[in-house]
Amino acid sequence: MGLSRSKSIIMIIGGLQKFSLLDYPDRVSAIVFTQGCNFHCQFCYNPMLVWPFQVSKSKYAQEEIIGQQKVHPMINQDDLFVFLRSRAGKLDAVVITGGEPCLQKNLLEFIAKIKKLGFLVKLDTNGSYPEALAKLIKEKLIDYIAMDIKAPEKKYKEVTGVEVDFQKIKKSVRIIMQSELAYEFRTTMVPGLLNKDDIGEMGKIIKDANKWYLQNFKSNIELVGRDLEQQVPYNAWQMKQMAQIGSQYVNKCEVR
Ligand code: SF4
Repeated sequence: MGLSRSKSIIMIIGGLQKFSLLDYPDRVSAIVFTQGCNFHCQFCYNPMLVWPFQVSKSKYAQEEIIGQQKVHPMINQDDLFVFLRSRAGKLDAVVITGGEPCLQKNLLEFIAKIKKLGFLVKLDTNGSYPEALAKLIKEKLIDYIAMDIKAPEKKYKEVTGVEVDFQKIKKSVRIIMQSELAYEFRTTMVPGLLNKDDIGEMGKIIKDANKWYLQNFKSNIELVGRDLEQQVPYNAWQMKQMAQIGSQYVNKCEVR
């Protein structure tokens, strides 16, 4: 497999899902997974995208160097665009997710190239790169943003596994809410990490937002935090109760 490189646009692409009815609201999309993340959320079920070298079952056989960075390119960018061109007019949208897409240096150019093919673009982000977000919005390169609210401020480090500049999270929230784009916030509710008392604190961060989805966490799969793999998720009633609390802060808070 070659480097993910096309016309000097360097993107580290960890995977491609060619078809989804779920990831872009009311649209048919393809999903591009970028590789690498600055967070190490314990509940993350994409450890191969967060730290491919540490994943025991890694299927990444090759290793290449881009700049100072070792990567395991999974998807050749030229092949990706051959695929996308073949789907122009058939798929509505491309979802860019990760990992954390905004840490990719050529994200803007990459998305511009996708937009030229006529696709809507949805960006999934952890909100730690407000400048990149602002630039993408200013250049009219994204149509929908989904940002994670990981925890109340006091728990951000515990939940993400890293020191987080919380001002950047708040700045991203402001940028998104002040944009005219469609957006959603989302939070993964992990028993033992987050509970219903945290909902109000998080609700204040995104007060009056349009949509906030509470996601139940998936266990029994390979997670970044191996200790969580046996954790029992919240039941439907508990999730609904937490969504009701969330509804006091935003226009719509639902379980997903
Ligand atoms: S921000 Fe997303 S991709 Fe990164 S570790 Fe957390 S859940 Fe995984």
